[in-house]
Amino acid sequence: MALMTVEEATALITSGVSALGVEDVPVQAAAGRVLARDLAARRTQPPADMSAMDGYAVRGADIAQTPARLAVIGESAAGRPFAGTVGAGQAVRIFTGAVVPEGADTVVIQENVSREGDTITTTAPTAALRNVRKRGCDFSADAPGLFAGRRLTGRDIMLAAAMDHATVPVARRPRVALLQTGDELVLPGQGTGNDSEIVVSNAFGLAELARRAGADVTDLGLIKDDLAAIRAVVARALSGEFDLVVSSGGASVGDHDLMAPALKAEGVDLSVHKIALRPGKPLMFGHRGTVRVLGLPGNPVSSHVCGMVYLVPLIRALQGDSRPGPETVPARLAADLPPNDVRRDFMRATLERRADGSIHAIPCTSQDSAMLSILSAADCLLVRPPFAPAGRVGDPCEIIPFAD
Ligand code: AMP
Ligand code: MG
Repeated sequence: MALMTVEEATALITSGVSALGVEDVPVQAAAGRVLARDLAARRTQPPADMSAMDGYAVRGADIAQTPARLAVIGESAAGRPFAGTVGAGQAVRIFTGAVVPEGADTVVIQENVSREGDTITTTAPTAALRNVRKRGCDFSADAPGLFAGRRLTGRDIMLAAAMDHATVPVARRPRVALLQTGDELVLPGQGTGNDSEIVVSNAFGLAELARRAGADVTDLGLIKDDLAAIRAVVARALSGEFDLVVSSGGASVGDHDLMAPALKAEGVDLSVHKIALRPGKPLMFGHRGTVRVLGLPGNPVSSHVCGMVYLVPLIRALQGDSRPGPETVPARLAADLPPNDVRRDFMRATLERRADGSIHAIPCTSQDSAMLSILSAADCLLVRPPFAPAGRVGDPCEIIPFAD
């Protein structure tokens, strides 16, 4: 079977994928969700010219010369504006966030004023129009402030709230089921200590990736390498409770690799591929009706790398995310590397910041696709394109930092 490139595999998995649906969520719960529609401001911000400082609201022309003497005629505080107008030779005591009264256009900070009774004298020059935030300088009513497809950050939900949205429309969370197969697998703490046992780990890492990508995740537990047993769990997973079924293990072509036969027997339109990727060559992808199925390799590091490369982008695409990723960032090689072969290599690496501020990626000593101690100690995946020439210390490279 010819190797498929990672780009081809990603295109296959995400082609024609769009958001599953829209729901309104409280703005304070919307971080990490993908905005489903453009969001326009429902108000103008600031709603009026407002003071950026504590001081005195004046007419700029009145304080062109220092010292200038002005009569204090009232006070404007945040939420309690001054009702009158500031005339020539007058000032209004004002506080940060208060409306600049009619007639005034400048705020003299209190440090540049001496006050006696209701008279102030400026002690330093202030340029006209200083210390005033003009009405609408942040945003104006009806102007779009956030756009569909954006994964909302904590900063974005501040903006959405300030634009007066109590709720925001976001893509509903994809519902993801995780399956793990293998006669050797036991849950942490549940084994007998037998040397042929392996304690499961894949679903924990995949669940974490999926949740961070915005999914609701259900772990359907361990399944023996038994066709009927796998079929029974697959049947449940496909019954409509889930949008995406993700398996790990049993994806190769050995006698005990029964995931593909079980999925096909349950009516999944499945294709099995070998991808030019390291670690993690085998990949299955298919669907039954609207339910998608992704079959990842069993080796723990491979399952996690493939989770980052395929699963996270798919979950994001299922929310209409305009940046499904995975996104790489530039770094520099901290070691010489041999030329790469046909497979895109996602090497585990640690990161080091040098005195000049540059970030260097140090490839881990072992790149074994089963070694979790190395995966855990690493900071990023160092991405080497197919047929990359030999790399030298200091050469530019691309990394995918671990997000957690
Ligand atoms: P398989 O793809 O089923 O042949 O599995 C490949 C390797 O990954 C074997 O050494 C399995 O023991 C291991 N493996 C499979 N599934 C898991 C899992 N869920 N957690 C940890 N290791 C696994
Ligand atoms: Mg197996």
